[in-house]
Amino acid sequence: MKSAVDTQALIEENQQLHAEMQDLLEQARINQQIMQRHQAFDLRLIGSGEFRDLIETVSLLMPNTFNLEIVTLTLIDHDFDIRRILQDLQIGLDEYPNLLFHVEGSTPLSPDQHKPTLGPYQPALHKPLFPSYQPASVAVLPLMRHQKLIGCLALGSAHEGRFTGNLATDFIERLASVVAICLENVINNERLKHIGLTDPLTGVNNRRYIEQRMQEEIGRAQRERSALSCLFIDIDHFKRVNDKFGHQSGDDVLREVATRIKKELRLSDSLGRYGGEEFIVLLTQATVQDAARIAERIRASVAQQAILIAGADADNALQITVSIGAAAQTPPDRSIPADVARQKLVARADEALYRAKESGRNRVVLAD
Ligand code: GH3
Ligand code: MG
Ligand code: MG
Repeated sequence: MKSAVDTQALIEENQQLHAEMQDLLEQARINQQIMQRHQAFDLRLIGSGEFRDLIETVSLLMPNTFNLEIVTLTLIDHDFDIRRILQDLQIGLDEYPNLLFHVEGSTPLSPDQHKPTLGPYQPALHKPLFPSYQPASVAVLPLMRHQKLIGCLALGSAHEGRFTGNLATDFIERLASVVAICLENVINNERLKHIGLTDPLTGVNNRRYIEQRMQEEIGRAQRERSALSCLFIDIDHFKRVNDKFGHQSGDDVLREVATRIKKELRLSDSLGRYGGEEFIVLLTQATVQDAARIAERIRASVAQQAILIAGADADNALQITVSIGAAAQTPPDRSIPADVARQKLVARADEALYRAKESGRNRVVLAD
């Protein structure tokens, strides 16, 4: 028979064992939670179809998932190719302070650096990657696609010991390659979307885009009871340009007219090529007086300076003019659906344009 002392020891040992089991169990539970979080993160990352999803997953979900203070994504975009697409798709870069664009010549993105670098934060090296927050230790993960550096992911922790030189990097290397694939995928998606909404000849929006955009803006104007105007612009006697100087010269004129119209617009306005030599401009928050003023500026800008066409010298640059019909919806009619309101607005601008043509061209006429 065991003595009372032995029994007591056994009980204590048992309790100790039990506590250790509880610890292990708790650890397993935590590990499982971490794994689930990582899995959820992976799924979100891989499922990102649009640029917005990806940048939000990286800059908001990633710090949360991996217990980091900050994650920034830096893209190499020396030709402004990516930024132009994002801008045209109305993705405001100021919405995403943790999305950065690499400035040529600045540290620490080197094209032959293919492995992650881990260590303490060094201002000279890391400031460009963390402009708004200074971490204690960092991991810089180059993002590679087809042996080319496309950007980098910078992970920042407030703890000095989090990223040290002797930490194994296979986990973050895998993470970097998944982010790189997803990044290439969303950029390609956005590029395709952009191509589908752009007129290849002039580079301005196409009819599909401008109709979509009008629908959205009319809906917004109806909700916010704000003014909205539309200009219908048509090049005068454009057929003569083609007939006299050839189709190629006609194309040059179209491009130049589009450029001049665009110059007169604000960032929030949109320009679209609606048909052959017809353009539509959508002016947000613009009354009929605003529309008349902008239309007159456009008319004058086209008429004032002759347009140079390929093969012609300065002496036979072409004198081109446009006629413009302007229509506003103030106040917006909330009783009709947005697509009906859009058709009505365009029809009124078109009718005003017809009157501009009838009354001599090279002029602006306002809809009734
Ligand atoms: P109006 O002052 O009444 O507008 O006369 P117009 O000659 O401009 O009008 P019309 O609609 O008769 O002619 C439009 C011309 O635009 C006919 C067409 O050949 C030309 N056009 C349409 N799309 C293109 C294009 O992409 N490139 C070129 N070069 N010409 C185009
Ligand atoms: Mg026409
Ligand atoms: Mg015309």
